Amino acid sequence: MNSPVNCIVELRGVTKTYAGDVHALRGVDLTIDRGDLLAIVGPSGSGKSTMLHMIGTLDRPTSGTVRVAGHDVATLSDRELSGLRSRTLGFVFQQFHLSPGVSALDNVADGLLYTGTGRRARRERAAAALERVGLGHRLRHRPSQLSGGEQQRVAVARAVAGDPPLVLADEPTGNLDSRAGADVLAVLADLHEAGTTVAIITHDAEIAGWCSRQVRLRDGLVVDGHEHDHLSPVELLRGAGR
Ligand code: ADP
Repeated sequence: MNSPVNCIVELRGVTKTYAGDVHALRGVDLTIDRGDLLAIVGPSGSGKSTMLHMIGTLDRPTSGTVRVAGHDVATLSDRELSGLRSRTLGFVFQQFHLSPGVSALDNVADGLLYTGTGRRARRERAAAALERVGLGHRLRHRPSQLSGGEQQRVAVARAVAGDPPLVLADEPTGNLDSRAGADVLAVLADLHEAGTTVAIITHDAEIAGWCSRQVRLRDGLVVDGHEHDHLSPVELLRGAGR
């Protein structure tokens, strides 16, 4: 049994039915412990993104319980839910979702608007986050002046600038070539080494293999949630010559 303190996400009997009688999740049980590096795998349409939306409290389940950082999401108002999200969660998507008209620094700093931090402190934290993903020399660049891999690293910096304990990434390397994808993964691996819990949806068996745990979905159900022992992700990335 996992201790509640160690557990950051718990899904119990979670179902999600979309309009048109689409049963995207059909009773999912999942526990994510603090410190996990988790791959969520499965064929297209198996419910991976829907499950990530449930974990990220971006949508509510049709039935079942979602607990995040000890809170039963169903008991929270929309306002409380956005507070929980901004304190606890960082999101990285396949499309980088950066604002085209503003610098990398402002893209990251604007992500902290809802934390109540002053402008100067927001920009300092944003600069530190960009430094952390290796973009300390690109603060003034706009997204169009950055490569795809750099844009995704800006998106990672935005996700982690508020120091959330959990980062959720939906196919974060899906739009990148393998070199740029490896750079983004190395950043996620560093974050994990530093103590952040990371969950990654991926089609890529190699990426899934780097994770300490894989959860496999099929037709809206978890069919496998095994853990395997291995070197740390950073060691594996280095070992692969990346
Ligand atoms: P995956 O991420 O594994 O590709 P999804 O979670 O995106 O799977 O989708 C699971 C199922 O739910 C699919 O059949 C998909 O077409 C359907 N679905 C996803 N989002 C919606 C939505 N907003 N409205 C209706 N059906 C949806």
